Amino acid sequence: MTVSLQDLEEARRALDTPLFADLAGDAQVSFEFFPPKTERMETQLWETFDTLAPLAPRFVSVTYGAGGSTRERTHAMVARIAAQTNIPAAAHLTCVAASKAEIAEIAQNYWEAGVRHIVALRGDPPEMGHAFAPHPDGYASAADLVAGLRDIAPFEISVAAYPEMHPEAVSPAADLDNLKRKLDAGATSAITQFFFDFEEWRRLVNELGSLGVTKPVLPGIMPVTTLSGVARMAEMGAAVPIWLIERLERAHEQGGGPAVRAEGIRAATELCRELLDGGAPGLHFYTLNRSTATQEIHSQLFG
Ligand SMILES: Cc1cc2nc3c(=O)[nH]c(=O)nc-3n(C[C@H](O)[C@H](O)[C@H](O)COP(=O)(O)OP(=O)(O)OC[C@H]3O[C@@H](n4cnc5c(N)ncnc54)[C@H](O)[C@@H]3O)c2cc1C
Repeated sequence: MTVSLQDLEEARRALDTPLFADLAGDAQVSFEFFPPKTERMETQLWETFDTLAPLAPRFVSVTYGAGGSTRERTHAMVARIAAQTNIPAAAHLTCVAASKAEIAEIAQNYWEAGVRHIVALRGDPPEMGHAFAPHPDGYASAADLVAGLRDIAPFEISVAAYPEMHPEAVSPAADLDNLKRKLDAGATSAITQFFFDFEEWRRLVNELGSLGVTKPVLPGIMPVTTLSGVARMAEMGAAVPIWLIERLERAHEQGGGPAVRAEGIRAATELCRELLDGGAPGLHFYTLNRSTATQEIHSQLFG
């Protein structure tokens, strides 16, 4: 049998049909944003928000800048989402440069603003390359922060998980123990650092399961859409695997930047399909305050 170009194109389109169209509305997606710095960025962010809102996310989360640098902006944005939309908002909160009393005040303010979900993190030191040093009256780790938040109000609490291990962990086993400690301290779920290989997520979930932990581990999704993004992602803590780099390079040879972008979206969509097939409790998209990549992946998955 000869296979024509048309056959190949049809096969490709068949793969592109939204496999989870019947799940639309049931599958849980969530979106992560960062607080905008300028008026222009703020306008762009709310446009993104309005574009993604119809996808009915289970929640949207807003990050907290290194060293608590976005404290007011994070609060303002989360409070606005809570007040003006019916999408549940989650506020990221870190232990950096804050006493337990300050954290209690921030958390209390969130509770009073109607925010019921905190993403509890240790955080990174404000200056890159310096080791984390807890505030003298503060929390030393995310697990401690989770326990502290539990005493303040009955928040839903998510914590960070690292399929490729947190860079400061002494071993994968120690990092897994730390994740278990955070979940045992009262966190309701974990959200992972972004990753590119389904097996990374499956291994993490299986290893947690073997320790008796069955709380949801929400995979973090961030498509690579440019070749320059590959290096940036490694800096952000997740190595792009060689097979994906090769796919992107091949696409670049064939069609330049637009082809790289399409291939990156395709690879992220394939990962999402594997995750949903493999029982992932949802998909958490790192949107970088833009809507198009998330929207395209969502539409390829759910129609
Ligand atoms: C989903 C997600 C969202 C994020 N959002 C933000 C954000 O909004 N703002 C921000 O600044 N950063 C954010 N980060 C980054 C995060 O703050 C950093 O990765 C930080 O370095 C670690 O935070 P953590 O909560 O994982 O810390 P922890 O869970 O406290 O772990 C930090 C390190 O210490 C080790 N450790 C902890 N306790 C012990 C112990 N008792 N014994 C031995 N080792 C221990 C862990 O294995 C790990 O290596 C986010 C990360 C993720 C995955």
